[in-house]
Amino acid sequence: MKIASRVNQVPPYLFVQISRKIAEKKAQGVDVISFGIGDPDLATPRKVLDGLFDASEIQVNHRYPETEGLPEFRIAVAEWYKDRFGIQFDPDKEILSLIGAKEGIGHAALSFVEPGDIALVPDPGYPVYSVGTLFAGGESYFLPLNSENNWLPDFSKIPDEICKKSTVLWINYPNNPTGAIADLEFFEDVVRFAKKNDIAVMHDNCYSEVTFDGYKPPSFFEVDGAKDIGLEFHSLSKTYNMTGWRIGMVVGNPDLIDALMIVKSNLDSGVSQAIQNMGISALKLPVDYISERNKIYQNRRDSIVEVLRHLGLEVQKTKASLYIWAKIPKGFTSGEFCEIVLDQTGIVFTPGLGYGANGEGYVRLSITIDDAALKVALDRLNNWTPPWEA
Ligand SMILES: *Cc1c(COP(=O)(O)O)cnc(C)c1O
Repeated sequence: MKIASRVNQVPPYLFVQISRKIAEKKAQGVDVISFGIGDPDLATPRKVLDGLFDASEIQVNHRYPETEGLPEFRIAVAEWYKDRFGIQFDPDKEILSLIGAKEGIGHAALSFVEPGDIALVPDPGYPVYSVGTLFAGGESYFLPLNSENNWLPDFSKIPDEICKKSTVLWINYPNNPTGAIADLEFFEDVVRFAKKNDIAVMHDNCYSEVTFDGYKPPSFFEVDGAKDIGLEFHSLSKTYNMTGWRIGMVVGNPDLIDALMIVKSNLDSGVSQAIQNMGISALKLPVDYISERNKIYQNRRDSIVEVLRHLGLEVQKTKASLYIWAKIPKGFTSGEFCEIVLDQTGIVFTPGLGYGANGEGYVRLSITIDDAALKVALDRLNNWTPPWEA
């Protein structure tokens, strides 16, 4: 049987080695505790769940949804954007529901990239941007993010011939995996660069509501002219602990929305209407819900950072996202480092290399670990004598 070459071209899963090691440890009876995936451990809010049973009894919800999403969901998204960022979107032309932001990101690649085109993709970054580009037959040009540039791409370093062939630019702030944030000045740069080179901007704003220390991230659309050239992807996954329900949205330029809608309507049939009803309840939750939840994450962040510093890792207190991005001591690759930690403590960190070449030298820790397991993990790390000078 033939397997399409694009399948085999997906870069090897860089966490293979660590996954094997985890399985080995578990087989030995070790209580492995993972800071690996960013998947909220906290429950979907009760109010959001409450409508689900009732929605399941309404027969119209048993049938195909419309790909673009229920008008009521799109109106709720428009109201949320207005309240949260002070920006207006037309629910009929500028908003689509998504089966999670990941679906929209993958399908956006099919909508805006073809063979011969380049996508500008951050490194390190969320892997779907480059894999989506590969599936669309395009090529990724990686924009290096590092501590010197505050984990923001430097557009002046992109060669002209690359800009000419580029059709999309992917950005993501608050950032996964680095926890970096961007201000409006950066988004102004993005709009200038994109307009000059006629490149569509895809901003992944999944973490805009997972924030600490009173920080409030902006929307890309707070910048004048952004709507001429871009889309913003959002997810209810991280905002409302809803990863399992699969619902998100995209807003922005109506021509880009139209193109994405054509691809989507030919490949998926939209989000289950019962789940869209949950989404509507979520978007209408009082903002207190989010600030209470963020307090829990912020406490976890603080205690994890303290222990990492005690172990000699260099780490900033992230202002947003579900991640702590820590610089490891010299003398190890991020893969070797994670293997040592796992081997000696039974605790899983993620090697930065898994997110791109520029992630080497770093590890990522997710704060989506329940408080009881977190306490055990932190005690173990605190009592551990690592094989480097802490
Ligand atoms: C979690 C995540 C997503 C995907 O979210 P879903 O809505 O659950 O598909 C997209 N982008 C980034 C950067 C993420 O971390």
